[in-house]
Amino acid sequence: MLPKFDDMLTTLVSEPSVSSTTPDIDRSNLRVIEHLANWLDDIGFDTELMTLPDNPKKANLIASFGPTLDEGGGLVLAGHTDTVPYDESKWQTDPFTITERDDKLYGLGSCDMKGFFPVALEAVTTFLDQDLKAPITIVATSDEESSMAGARYLAAKEKPKADYAIIGEPTGLRPIYAHKGIAFMSVKLQGESGHSSNPDLGCNALDAMHDVMGELIQFRTELAKQNQNPAFEVNVPTLNLGCMHAGDSPNRICSHAELQIDLRLLPGMDTHATIEMLLYRLQQAIAHCDIKLELNTHYPPIPPFESDIDSDLVQTLAKHSGNAPGTVAFGTEGHFLQSLGMETVVFGPGSIDQAHQPNEYLARDQIAPAAETLRHVIQRYCVG
Ligand SMILES: [Zn+2]
Repeated sequence: MLPKFDDMLTTLVSEPSVSSTTPDIDRSNLRVIEHLANWLDDIGFDTELMTLPDNPKKANLIASFGPTLDEGGGLVLAGHTDTVPYDESKWQTDPFTITERDDKLYGLGSCDMKGFFPVALEAVTTFLDQDLKAPITIVATSDEESSMAGARYLAAKEKPKADYAIIGEPTGLRPIYAHKGIAFMSVKLQGESGHSSNPDLGCNALDAMHDVMGELIQFRTELAKQNQNPAFEVNVPTLNLGCMHAGDSPNRICSHAELQIDLRLLPGMDTHATIEMLLYRLQQAIAHCDIKLELNTHYPPIPPFESDIDSDLVQTLAKHSGNAPGTVAFGTEGHFLQSLGMETVVFGPGSIDQAHQPNEYLARDQIAPAAETLRHVIQRYCVG
């Protein structure tokens, strides 16, 4: 027997599972995975824990119910088990205790996206005594909020195989068929310091950064001219100059400068090729001076994601949720599941407006319609 919805959500939220590229804040997700595995095991799913090869404190879960087909088949309901870090001083309640107020369930990860798992588990229980033609698979990943290491490992292991996948990120029950890619990068310039009274004594990294910034803005303008997609609210690729650290004193030639940027490409754009081109352009822009330039990504970029808006899964979710398909401005594991051959859509309860915020909540009125829509989809792809 499955625990009650509120008990499952309370349990999942009570297990801290912050993921971060900053090691001191990064936590294991194993407790969350173990709870899910136990519940799914109890109701008859075959469960497989996939510990990440380079991090024994992190794991994915793949749990399947129904016939085992050679070619995979059926439907995957996927979500991530980690949360973003939190600022306790801005929370009005304990982030790790589900607190209900005005039909809203407050807690860290309630909306993004531990709340999706009890919804998915409630939906699948309807089918436990039915004869399935294709399996239902629940996938729970690690590190979506930081490196996407969990989803990358699934892609590397070529698991799971299915025909369709729903990623239950908070979309307010709107089927999302596309989002931009995201790459955080640093441009590092190394020059040489010297007394400021004579510029010839050194090589000024800030002067060179001025050229770099000009080139970045020029590159951004060209990208926007060449690439547009009216399905997005911001219909062009974006390149944000986010923060810069440089130098140490007004009377020293600046020897070191670092600029961090955020590049968001539209579906169809080649992330790797665009970054290669960017590197080439920046090198050319500072070729006139003796400065060393490095362009590093903070973690491997999240590629853009796009499914066919007319695909069966998009249209089925639109029909049963009553919401037209759309696009979003946040990144998901969509690309990685799609690369496994699944028709993939992002669809889940809760609003992205509450995600990554203090006092995050899942509105109770999202839960039943989310489960009901999932039941329709399971019926269509896994039953008759
Ligand atoms: Zn999320």
